[in-house]
Amino acid sequence: MTVNEKNYQWSGSLSKRTKTDYIVLHHAAAAMCTADDIHRWHLNNGWAGIGYHLFVRKNGEIYRGRPIDTVGAHCLNYNSRSIGICAEGAYDSTDTSMPAAQKAALMWLVAELRKVYKTAKVVQHKELTATSCPGRYFPFEEILKGEAANPPADIPSDWAEAAWDWVRGAGITDGTNPQGAITREQVAVMLYRFAARAGLL
Ligand SMILES: [Zn+2]
Repeated sequence: MTVNEKNYQWSGSLSKRTKTDYIVLHHAAAAMCTADDIHRWHLNNGWAGIGYHLFVRKNGEIYRGRPIDTVGAHCLNYNSRSIGICAEGAYDSTDTSMPAAQKAALMWLVAELRKVYKTAKVVQHKELTATSCPGRYFPFEEILKGEAANPPADIPSDWAEAAWDWVRGAGITDGTNPQGAITREQVAVMLYRFAARAGLL
């Protein structure tokens, strides 16, 4: 996945942000809108332009809002120490479930940001301000879990380490993605390689 870059006309200058204590998730409270729509709406509020740093559409496309290292306009009293991510949709009313593509993009984005902002807490807007944002149908727990469920790519669990070293050394597996799921044909191939090695064929 990638972030689509945008060129906005800002009304005034953006200030640099020095702290990132929170990653705040929002919904647009609009069933269908683009990053440009939000930019226009926020200009009409008298702001410098789109107040979020990132915007995720229902189809999973991710767009840049404000540069990531600037102060946003998305969460009263927390803008100088947070990053704002907004999801297209009205998850307090008409949108009662989130499309899989959008959910996957949000999971990816949150995981990527946490690699950079390791101490930042991921929260919903309503945890910091009196608002219903991002709505009761916003799958916050799932988005957080999805991120936690990503296993470290190249490290087997402690209890599997000796076996993993052996099967890799014996050429029974290629040694990639130790915590990934496996298909029946992959099991068959591994058994076949073992049988060949043991002289059973
Ligand atoms: Zn919000």
